[in-house]
Order: sequence, then C-alpha cells, then structure tokens
Amino acid sequence: MEQPKLVFTQISEFLEFLGPDFATLIANDPDLRGLDHAPSFPFCCSRHYAERVRNASKPKALLREILPTKAEYEDVPGFVDDPVGDLPAGKNECVIQKYDQRALVMTTATCGVRCRFCFRRNYPFQNIPDVDVQVRNWLDTHSDIWEIILSGGDPLTLSPSKFESLIEAIGDHSSVTTLRIHTRLPVMRPDLVQQHMDLLKELPARFDCVLVSHVDHPDELDEESQIIFGQLKFAGWTLLNQSVLLKGVNEDADTMTKLCRKLFQQGVLPYYIHQLDHAKGVAHFEISDDQAKALVAEIRTKLPGYLVPRLVREIAGEKSKTPV
Ligand SMILES: *Cc1c(COP(=O)(O)O)cnc(C)c1O
Ligand code: SF4
Repeated sequence: MEQPKLVFTQISEFLEFLGPDFATLIANDPDLRGLDHAPSFPFCCSRHYAERVRNASKPKALLREILPTKAEYEDVPGFVDDPVGDLPAGKNECVIQKYDQRALVMTTATCGVRCRFCFRRNYPFQNIPDVDVQVRNWLDTHSDIWEIILSGGDPLTLSPSKFESLIEAIGDHSSVTTLRIHTRLPVMRPDLVQQHMDLLKELPARFDCVLVSHVDHPDELDEESQIIFGQLKFAGWTLLNQSVLLKGVNEDADTMTKLCRKLFQQGVLPYYIHQLDHAKGVAHFEISDDQAKALVAEIRTKLPGYLVPRLVREIAGEKSKTPV
C-alpha cells in the first residue's frame, strides 16, 4: 500500500488534499488567488500543517503563510537578498556570529515548510555535510562563546545521527553552557521532533536548554504541539516562542492575544514579535511600525505582562535585536 505523503511539494496535490471548498475559498480571495505554481522559492508544506488548515477557524491566515502568489514578484525598493546581514557575519560555511559571546549555526538548508515571508528565502543555502566538524573546529578557537543557537533551515530536520554528532561537537566545549534550538517543527512536523525526543530529554543534564519555537497563529497549535512542549518542559527545557508580524495573518489584537494565551497553555512563553525582515518578495506582508506598536499596546491591556512579547526588528550590523 502506498504510504500517505508527509510533505506536499506541488500546490495541486496540496489543494487536492484540502478539498474543493478550499479551492473555491482561494479562487474568491483577492489575496490568495494569484497563485504562482512555479515560484523561484519553491512551495513546500507538510501534511500536518495542511490538516491544521482544514481545521482552522480562519484558514485564510494559515494559507497565506505558505501559498506562493504573484505578489512575490513585486520589486519593492529596500527589499533585498540578505536583509539581516547574515553573509558579512559568517565565520565559516555554517557559523554566524553577530552578538557578543553567542553564535548561531546554520545547521541545514532544509525546513519542514517554506514560509512565504522567510527572511532567508534568498539566502545562498546549501546543506553542509560536515557541520559538526566545522562547529567543533570553530569552538576550539572561540572559548568565549557560551551560547550556541542551532538554526537553519530547521535543525530538527537533521537525521538523528547528524543531530547527535553536532550536539557532541558542542558538548565537548565546556565553555558552551547554553544550547538553544530555533525550530518550527513542533507545528509543522511533530513526527520529526519525536524522532529526536530521547536525546532532547537528556540534554538538560548537560546544558541550560532553550527551545524557541516559531508559531505565528493560534490555529497552528494543536494536541501534538502540546505533547511535544509538555515533554520538553517536563525534561527541563525553557520554552519560548517567536512570531513574525504578518499582514493578513496575525496583525489583529484578537489573534495575537489568542496566540499568546494558547502558547502559555502549552507551556511556552511569548518571546519576540519580529517586524518583518525585508527579504526580496515579502513586501506584501509588511505592517507599519505605528500599527505594530498599536497592536502591542492593545494586547498589553488584555494580557498579563509575562505574556506580552517584545516587538523587535533585526537591523544588519547591530549588536542585538532592536526594540521597535
Ligand atoms: C537573532 C540572533 C540571535 C539571538 O538573539 P536573541 O536576541 O538572543 O534572541 C543570535 N545570533 C544571531 C546571528 C541572530 O540572528
Ligand atoms: S521555518 Fe523559518 S527558516 Fe524555515 S521557511 Fe519558515 S521562516 Fe524560513
């Protein structure tokens, strides 16, 4: 028997999975109907996320995050290939250091999805076969680094053996006390998170462990993300979330308030709301700073202080994220 597909790479098969009602919804929506079936940043969406779309209270928001449209070809001044200055901050093929005593590793080019607003959508990504060796060699000569952030791509798309050898390469440097993982897989490919779960549960004995999930809309969270976050929290991980502020997805106070509350119910604290990074092809997601500040001011009146994320922007060359 044919295995059900876990990932859709063709829009047509994704739409077929969703069913005819969604084709009608998309055809009637001015923001979605300019579908681009052969985008330069290819379509990719997990079956898991497609199921979240099916069950969503507002499927349009979730669809907008992943469906390529012709709007991506608008050439808008200021929207560029490397909006956050990753390239000049590169230390070797995979280590990026922008901030004092902390470094980020581009572990892989692979993700569980391709978000249309991705800040690294035009990044000259390659899968690097020996990330573990490169990280090990770099840390050998950088004993001031105390936090390593695994990013990408999505670090949890690595095979368990590659992921483990990367952890070993880091763990052999006692200077590194904090291990942080940036991932969207708890809401995209919970099955792939689960294949690392035994190792993840052991890590708090060796590092201070922080997982920063990327969730943009409350409808992305479900029972499976709840299980993952519950297991990690119980194992001793600190759980934080970052969202990107996106027009047509999460720019209203009601959605953002729901997201923050639902994250907390699953054991996760809202950490950042990012103002959109100006990658080429994402301008149609932009929210003005004034609107963003008004949004945060409004959710502040609806939530306890510990559930209000910090509104920030990444400016190339700065020594930290910049509060808006
Ligand atoms: C965003 C980022 C970090 C993490 O910044 P925090 O403010 O600590 O979340 C670290 N390194 C790089 C290169 C980054 O882009
Ligand atoms: S999960 Fe992050 S890196 Fe991957 S496509 Fe989405 S925004 Fe880009």
